[in-house]
Order: sequence, then structure tokens, then C-alpha cells
Amino acid sequence: MVAEQTEIHLRTNGLSAYFFGKPAVREASVGFAKHTVTAIIGPSGCGKSTFLRCLNRMHEMVPGASVDGQVMLDTQDIYAPEVNPIQLRKRVGMVFQRPTPFPTMSIADNVAAGLKVNGKVTGADRQAVIERALRGAALWDEVKDRLDASPLALSGGQQQRLCIARAIAPRPEVILLDEPTSALDPISTQHIEDLVHELKSEYTVVIVTHNMQQAARVSDTTAFFYMGELIESGPTEQIFTRPRQERTEAYITGRFG
Ligand code: ADP
Repeated sequence: MVAEQTEIHLRTNGLSAYFFGKPAVREASVGFAKHTVTAIIGPSGCGKSTFLRCLNRMHEMVPGASVDGQVMLDTQDIYAPEVNPIQLRKRVGMVFQRPTPFPTMSIADNVAAGLKVNGKVTGADRQAVIERALRGAALWDEVKDRLDASPLALSGGQQQRLCIARAIAPRPEVILLDEPTSALDPISTQHIEDLVHELKSEYTVVIVTHNMQQAARVSDTTAFFYMGELIESGPTEQIFTRPRQERTEAYITGRFG
């Protein structure tokens, strides 16, 4: 492997997340390098989703939620008082476990929905942004002749790629994917995995997955969580072949999970 200088794009420093004062994530410190894919793995309930949601301030939308510690996006502390969380979520986009297209909007309007916060985009600009986002989500060829149709006419996998198009329309810097293939069939899963690979040329990607094969296939770096703690993180190949921690080894070899 070629050793190269990696620029950290997003970093957590002693990040803890709570629900009604009860910790779900404890003092996690980890950096995400620019234009890489990081997989967050660990058994169900270990805090993967909660951790991910802290990275674009979605966690605070949940009743009883609070955070401690720091999340730095380049040099900006995203929890600083001057940061507008809605604007932040345009810079750090998110895609959820189940496809969540807006059912009453057309395919085109679903993509454009992500743009509205920055003012209305109209005319040729709007068309260009929609096409660019749909191409970026590897969906353009499948929907270009039916942009005004309902997203509900699409397959689950296509709907998920539409949600990725919606997330990339405002040109974010980071994309967070929360188990994006857990509701999809194997072929759609492969499409999304191929897409994740392409996304990293433009974005920094963090993906939560309970599927270790998927983590091994798509990521450059893997972070293993257990009971709210970040046990270790490192190059994916190393985590899966030479983990440093006993608990990581036990998990990746299937002794629990
Ligand atoms: P994972 O993504 O690894 O399955 P989660 O981040 O969803 O784990 O959950 C971590 C812990 O936080 C679990 O103990 C879970 O029960 C708790 N938790 C998650 N969501 C909520 C919520 N909305 N209210 C209270 N507790 C929650």
C-alpha cells in the first residue's frame, strides 16, 4: 500500500451522545480522511446510528438527545452556536436505512427538494442540478424519460439512489449513509455499493453497516464500535486481518454479534 498524506476532513473529539442522560456513545475520537469511505461496524445497539447522527446534528432532533465533545468539519466546530444545523446538513448529507422519497412529489422535485434551503433554483439551472445529481447517483439513464413521474413507481433500489441524488444535489462535502442497503435485494445492494465506491471521488463518505462483508468491500477505513465505545479504527484490510483488540477480533470472526 502506498503511504500518502491523508487530509482529515471530519473529526470527532471525545464525542459522547445521550438519550435522556443515558450514554449511547462514549467519548469517541476518530478522524475521517477526505475522499475516503469509512465503515462503522459493530453489533446492533452499539451506537453506530447515534454516532452517525451526531456528525450532521440529526441526533439533536430526537427527544431527550444531547451531546458532549466536539465534531470538527475542517476547522469548523459544527456544534458552535453560530452554526445553523439546516445549512450544516447541506454540507453533510444523510441517507437512511429505508428509502424515504417524498411520495407526493415527482422524481425531479424530490431531487430539487434538497436545494430549497439555499433559495429557489429555477429554469435551466434547476434542470442542470437535477441531471447532475441523478447522474451522480447512477440513476439518470433509468429515469430521464419520466422525471415528472411519482417516485413510488421506482423499485426500492432506485428509490434509494433517488435519496442519494437528493442528498448530493446541494453539493455536500460529506455523505453519511445509515445502513443504506439493509432493505434492498442483492442486485440493488450491489448497485449502491458500486455507487459508494464512485461517490468517494467527490465526497467523504461514512457508512454504517451491520454487514461485515459490505464493510470489507466498500471501505478504506473501518471503525468498530461496541457498547457505545469506539474500540478501534484503522485501514479496513488491517481491521479484518490483524485487529489490535481482542473484542474486534471476536466480532469479525463471528464469535458474537
Ligand atoms: P446501532 O445503530 O448500533 O444499532 P443505536 O445508535 O441505534 O445503535 O442505539 C444505541 C443505543 O441507544 C441503544 O441502546 C438504543 O436502545 C439507544 N437508543 C437509540 N435510539 C434511541 C431513542 N430514540 N431513544 C432512546 N434510546 C435510544
